[in-house]
Amino acid sequence: MSDIIQLLPDHVANQIAAGEVVQRPASVVKELLENAIDAGATNIKLLIKDAGKTLIQVIDDGKGMSTTDARMSFERHATSKIQKAEDLFNLNTKGFRGEALASIAAIAHVELKTKPKGEELGTCIKIEGSKIISQDFISTGEGTSLAVKNLFYNIPARRNFLKSDTVETRHIIDEFQRVALAHSSISFLLHHNNNEVYHLKSGNLRQRIVAVFGTKMNEKLVPIDEKTDIVAIEGFVAKPEFSKRKRGEQFFFVNNRFIKSSYLNHAVVSAFDGLLEQGSHPSYFLYLQVPANTIDINIHPTKTEIKFDNEKALYAMLRATVKHSLGQYNVAPVLDFNR
Ligand code: ADP
Ligand code: MG
Repeated sequence: MSDIIQLLPDHVANQIAAGEVVQRPASVVKELLENAIDAGATNIKLLIKDAGKTLIQVIDDGKGMSTTDARMSFERHATSKIQKAEDLFNLNTKGFRGEALASIAAIAHVELKTKPKGEELGTCIKIEGSKIISQDFISTGEGTSLAVKNLFYNIPARRNFLKSDTVETRHIIDEFQRVALAHSSISFLLHHNNNEVYHLKSGNLRQRIVAVFGTKMNEKLVPIDEKTDIVAIEGFVAKPEFSKRKRGEQFFFVNNRFIKSSYLNHAVVSAFDGLLEQGSHPSYFLYLQVPANTIDINIHPTKTEIKFDNEKALYAMLRATVKHSLGQYNVAPVLDFNR
């Protein structure tokens, strides 16, 4: 029998990887925002057209890239964030797979403009379907702009399966909010079809939550603050009377990364025991800081699920801390009656 196995060409491999990394415009938003944060940006702009179907652009004032790095950034498994396998278990960056830009460039028209600090000229690279169309020196500001146009232009099946603009915009706003909530010291701007949707100024956690969800949120928040050897927990839970029928504002951040965890959610919900109406869900914004070497982030392509070494202890800590804070808040109004 003759041999039939071949290595796939790079652009095909990239397109396959893209299938995992990029489900919809919001996935691109997440990857680009995270890259801007990893680059140390303090101001990040997100510009969207037509729910991201026409344009997704992120402009940052981060550290920028050299000309060679700008080109390398589109190679698969090319990253500045880790060097060796052990680094996977001590991550301090959002990214580490080196796959996002290669994947996005395989299925869209991409334009990168970037300039590191102190350089005279920056670099502009245009790339379509993994093919470099042009590369030029340009004059541009410090930092990076990455524009992604016509997502899925070469995968009609994926493009046709995108949902309505309303639904895709909702997904984008969800991702934007998660990133913005995780980084209150960074200022963020979101424009959709040239209209300003959010302008979030740098501030503390409470200010950021209120800026995202509206001033009414301010009176609802009960602060949480606890620190032990294995975890520091900060943030807020909403007072029980503001719990919701719809599971809405429930946010866990671990080392400033938004994650989903039904296990930790259970810890929080059980701390509310007896305080919630049947069928209603508490809102919470909880920020956990744990040593980077006690979690595994590399278990899910979108990195929204992680594995904890000390899961049980975390559960107990979280539950006790939330319960304690709710208890303090509940006691306060009674004391107030003793005028
Ligand atoms: P990862 O983030 O996993 O490293 P990406 O494909 O998202 O992989 O990016 C590849 C590399 O390109 C990054 O490691 C980083 O060095 C560089 N890069 C991407 N976006 C930016 C940016 N906004 N500013 C500076 N460098 C960037
Ligand atoms: Mg990345």
